[in-house]
Amino acid sequence: MTTSHIEERLEALEERRALLLDVLTGLPGRDALLDRIEEQRSSTAAGLLCIDMDQLAALNEAMGLTAGDVLLAEAAKRIALHTGESNFLVRYGGDEFALLMPFVESAGHIERKASELLDALRRPYLIAGREVFVGASIGIAFASTPLLQHAEAALARAKISARGSWLMYSPGLARSQYERFHLKTELRQAIEQSQFEVYYQPKASCRSGMVTGFEALIRWNHPQRGLISPSEFIPALEESGLIERVGAWVLKESCMQLKQWDAAGYSALQIAVNVSLRQLADPAFAELVGNTLLETHLSPQRLELELTESMLMHDSVSAEALLRKLKALGVRLAIDDFGTGYSSLAYLKRLPIDTIKIDRAFVQDITTDPNDASITRAIVGMAHSLKIAVVAEGVETEAQLSTLIAEQCESVQGYYIGKPMPADKALAFLSSGWSIAPEILGRPVKARTLLLVDDEESIVLALKRLLRREGYRILSASSGAEGLDLLAKNDVDVIVSDQRMPNMTGEEFLRRTKELYPDTVRMVLSGYADMQSITNAINRGAVYKFLSKPWDDQNLKDNIQEAFRRKELSDESRRLVNDIAVANTDLNRSNKSLATMLDEQSHRSMIGHAALAMVQETLHLLPAPVVGLDPQGMVVLRNESFFKLHLSMDACSTLASHCPPWQDTESFFLEMTDQDNQRWNIAGRNLVTGNQHRGTVFVFLNRLCHHA
Ligand code: C2E
Ligand code: CA
Ligand code: CA
Repeated sequence: MTTSHIEERLEALEERRALLLDVLTGLPGRDALLDRIEEQRSSTAAGLLCIDMDQLAALNEAMGLTAGDVLLAEAAKRIALHTGESNFLVRYGGDEFALLMPFVESAGHIERKASELLDALRRPYLIAGREVFVGASIGIAFASTPLLQHAEAALARAKISARGSWLMYSPGLARSQYERFHLKTELRQAIEQSQFEVYYQPKASCRSGMVTGFEALIRWNHPQRGLISPSEFIPALEESGLIERVGAWVLKESCMQLKQWDAAGYSALQIAVNVSLRQLADPAFAELVGNTLLETHLSPQRLELELTESMLMHDSVSAEALLRKLKALGVRLAIDDFGTGYSSLAYLKRLPIDTIKIDRAFVQDITTDPNDASITRAIVGMAHSLKIAVVAEGVETEAQLSTLIAEQCESVQGYYIGKPMPADKALAFLSSGWSIAPEILGRPVKARTLLLVDDEESIVLALKRLLRREGYRILSASSGAEGLDLLAKNDVDVIVSDQRMPNMTGEEFLRRTKELYPDTVRMVLSGYADMQSITNAINRGAVYKFLSKPWDDQNLKDNIQEAFRRKELSDESRRLVNDIAVANTDLNRSNKSLATMLDEQSHRSMIGHAALAMVQETLHLLPAPVVGLDPQGMVVLRNESFFKLHLSMDACSTLASHCPPWQDTESFFLEMTDQDNQRWNIAGRNLVTGNQHRGTVFVFLNRLCHHA
């Protein structure tokens, strides 16, 4: 065998290798693609689509490897249907296909092809008798070299930021790809060198106007670039799996911070911490939260975890089970950016959610866009019916704030209250005693008044301390008698009374209160549970709720707040009943005047009708023939004399065609001969309103002469 022979054989072998078909899909493989691209090098109009099937790994995991094979074979068929003769399709890798298009007319053309393919691939697959939904992502390179690398780069990017759709390569994309890579390296350093810092943004209550807590927001103190906002690096932290470490750090840092504020005398504050999808999906997350609370000695109700709607809709997370696990720890759960996702409140109802945060987008235009205002109103209303508290985000102006207060939002957060700030600034902010100005809070013309009745002074003091920041006017009495005395002098909404007191028991005191002030909401707070007397009191309606000593701070606060809400609701409905009565009287009055008006009107229209009938009759009996034509020449009016004329069938159209243009003249004269050969002199008149022609009336005036 000569060298040339060997070379020939090798070449032939090489060719066959390149054309070796993939058994599964019957398509050529990667090498064949490389060869073809090499051949196309001179073409400046070549395009390449790299097609990646999404979630194939998950499918294999869930249904077995053969399921993946069936899917790939079917996907290959679908793509092949759209391939076209001059194009070249290969199975490029595990779950990737590549379609080379040697001559592409335009970028738009190849983009349309990509959309077409995505639509085809998105249709359900029938695997083992089940419908399976799997999408695809496509990276496109067109008229750019190196074609393959660029299409791959576009695909990699599409899988991150445009999963399920296509992305066209552009030079900027490569740069951002590089930046992303660089960013991840830098983030690793940032962790090692503790370049992260937690900022705190205050939240305020719309009832009391006071600061109720903070949201923890991470910042990155970059050695060169300065302070960097989380939206720039959170996605990279998530992609690289670093978010779990950083998230755990933010959580611990925030809890510790809260304890420090406690020590400084601000003990009723809450802290909200953002949680990312990756953290939530981590099976050990609930344990991490539990441990952090233990380590920092923080009671769980003071920690609120902020999750987004999209996280709960994500299929990798079984939202309900996860949330229940977290809820079992006692922490509060909030839905962040509410309104921007797809979840409905009906869906949220199934989840143990405490708070929703209305997204900034709605708050922004709440004072100008009636839509946003009504969406907000609806969200607040529904949330309240589900006993979910509402926080409005991104409040920047006084006008937004007053609107939200009027819409019954519980709390507000945003630049108007305060920007996110470092921990020491937050402490300064607290000690400045900032609160929403009373004239903005406006609403409660009457302060929410709470009466505490207990013979133990220490209990009264503890309760006062606990409720200090809730914005109530608090009265206290050490006995039932003193309590009744205070009730006589003050307008009290809610009463919390001890049960066991000398002289008059709590039950007896509340029973009397019920008779004297039936609108008050009455609760018993007692360590002593004489079931019989309590049951009696509740059954007689003297007591709304029984709360036990020792109490749980948050629980007690919630119950008292709930009691005020109840009171306000009944006040509101009483006002409403009153308003309705007033409105009814008004309605009766206006009904009466409406009836009079209608009488007058029908009288007037009767006169009108009579006049019209008279005109019609006069016209009818007029001894001269009259005919009216509409602008199209149709007869719309004829009188009796006109019927007596002997006119040809087309007389009226002749009339119409002989009229001068209506714009030129109002009245004119015509002549016409009837079938008895009589000649008529006819007066015509155009009826014009504004610049609209309504038609023409013709009056046949007099016969001119006889023809033989
Ligand atoms: P978010 O949870 O929706 O936080 C609110 C964002 O709105 C914050 O941006 C805050 O500075 C900004 N903001 C607050 N009030 C106003 C206002 O009145 N006007 C305007 N225009 N903006 C306002 P920031 O701090 O840049 O955080 C961006 C996002 O990064 C957060 O959105 C949150 O999703 C995420 N994030 C922040 N810290 C963490 C964290 O520790 N872990 C995780 N997973 N995500 C975090
Ligand atoms: Ca948040
Ligand atoms: Ca938010």
